[in-house]
Amino acid sequence: MTMNGHFDVIIIGTGAGGGTLANRLADSGKRILLLERGDYVPREKDNWDPRPVNLEGKYQTKEVWRDRDGKPLHPHTNYNVGGNTKFYGAALFRLREHDFGEVRHNGGLSPAWPISYDELEPYYTQSERLYHVHGERGIDPTDPPASAPYPHPAVSHEPRIRDLAEDFAAQGLRPFPVPLGILLDEKNPRASRCIRCSTCDGFPCLVSAKSDAQVCAVDPILDRGNVTLLTRAKAEKLLTDGLGRRVDRVVVERDGAREEYSADVVVSSCGAINSAALLLRSANDQHPNGLANGSGVVGRHYMGHVNSVLMAVSKCPNPTVFQKTLGVNDYYVPTKEWDYPMGHISFVGKLDGVTLSGGAPAIAPGFTLELMAKHSLDFWLTSEDLPDPENRVSLDAQGNIVLSYAPNNEEGHKRLIQKLKGLMQAQRKCQVHGHECHQGLFSRNLFVGQRIPLAGVAHQCGTLRFGHDPRTSVLDTNCKAHELDNLYVVDASFFPSSGAVNPALTIMANALRVGDHLLERMR
Ligand SMILES: Cc1cc2nc3c(=O)[nH]c(=O)nc-3n(C[C@H](O)[C@H](O)[C@H](O)COP(=O)(O)OP(=O)(O)OC[C@H]3O[C@@H](n4cnc5c(N)ncnc54)[C@H](O)[C@@H]3O)c2cc1C
Ligand code: SF4
Repeated sequence: MTMNGHFDVIIIGTGAGGGTLANRLADSGKRILLLERGDYVPREKDNWDPRPVNLEGKYQTKEVWRDRDGKPLHPHTNYNVGGNTKFYGAALFRLREHDFGEVRHNGGLSPAWPISYDELEPYYTQSERLYHVHGERGIDPTDPPASAPYPHPAVSHEPRIRDLAEDFAAQGLRPFPVPLGILLDEKNPRASRCIRCSTCDGFPCLVSAKSDAQVCAVDPILDRGNVTLLTRAKAEKLLTDGLGRRVDRVVVERDGAREEYSADVVVSSCGAINSAALLLRSANDQHPNGLANGSGVVGRHYMGHVNSVLMAVSKCPNPTVFQKTLGVNDYYVPTKEWDYPMGHISFVGKLDGVTLSGGAPAIAPGFTLELMAKHSLDFWLTSEDLPDPENRVSLDAQGNIVLSYAPNNEEGHKRLIQKLKGLMQAQRKCQVHGHECHQGLFSRNLFVGQRIPLAGVAHQCGTLRFGHDPRTSVLDTNCKAHELDNLYVVDASFFPSSGAVNPALTIMANALRVGDHLLERMR
């Protein structure tokens, strides 16, 4: 076996975690190797076409995983430069301050994080700058304290969404503009890179105007002599020294050939499912249950949020193009009516008839799918799921990924859906159809009741949680494996709890935090 090179740092994966960490380390002059199993997402008209993107899954991995019953699972996840941020909706939320403490849910306890919100706050501010977040502080009642305003003004609502915001406010809620990472300049539309289109959430941006990890973090550092990016380079295994204390070599399969690389520091950032799988595949004599897995915790406590997409269909059309501008967090915390959190309400990108035809939605009476999509407000509801050791990533005999998951803490989510139903029924009278305008709420797909199916692993986290105690966590508070001197993890694996807002900004902020630790370590 030939060694293909030694580096100061190897980062495996170029998504929210790995891409952001590389950006932080690039100026140090340290020799950095980025290993990415995918390629660049090609720039082509299909990028913005719902048929190839949503129906044919053109850009998704073709990998097949298994669920706990051994049934094949076709994960909706993406292997490419920028990772899943190439396809994300770019809603870039901070976790709420109390999410870092223990939170009492109807379904059990959401555990505290080993670091406080204050420790992450400076890095949230820095990631909001790096990822050009647009927003306005202090309107969302659950907004945590921030040391700086958002770097860019909130993205404006289109008329239908503005009306809805007024309706919600009239009902006593405090709707707010969702923080968004898009390179939009509404004051100067001719120069704005983002054109505010309808194919953003779930699609790659054809004009590179989405704040994804490729555009904001990886591409800007590739001209540095000290940064090397290898695409189509899949990390297969991590080998340790004889004592099992250091990762000695990273075994890579690139274009069908086996290569080996070494580094002083090795960082896994393959996404929560693939980082756990990589450690399990790297079992050896010193680490018989998987690398860094003396605790048995590797792969366990998988979380992915309790999510629903609900379409509120009305007789009047919804002409909104860019829909993801409005959020409601009034039910994120216990309320007068219920002692527990319910969750977060916002939007997905505007749904279309082609996309709907892939999901078998319930059809509103008298509507076709096409018509329904033209007349719907498309809500995204998220509630927190709790870390259960039996919800886990493991490997089958061939080394393929097995994802076992049973949903939990669902009562709050059901109540959130009922809340939204009530709110929509209590909207102001429409001038044309009166109260008859609203036709009801319809679930986006019927795979698992109203829930996003397991194949949707968009918000995966928690499989290598960080903590103080090596018996119950895999990583220490710097996200270094307790059992190894030079192995770090900066993707969503480290989350001890999932909160109920989208995870990417927290992954980015943590990667910057770990980056500062590594700069200190390597000085
Ligand atoms: C459709 C969609 C919409 C979303 N919308 C939002 C949103 O609005 N807001 C939000 O906060 N989050 C959103 N998310 C979630 C967000 O994209 C993820 O939380 C985030 O990208 C996870 O970051 P990560 O670094 O953990 O992993 P990823 O971004 O998935 O990066 C992992 C990288 O590792 C690479 N890799 C994996 N295995 C290997 C290996 N063995 N060797 C080499 N490379 C490997 C992958 O190819 C990938 O590039 C969305 C996700 C999807 C799919
Ligand atoms: S809305 Fe803007 S950032 Fe999103 S895909 Fe369209 S042009 Fe790109």
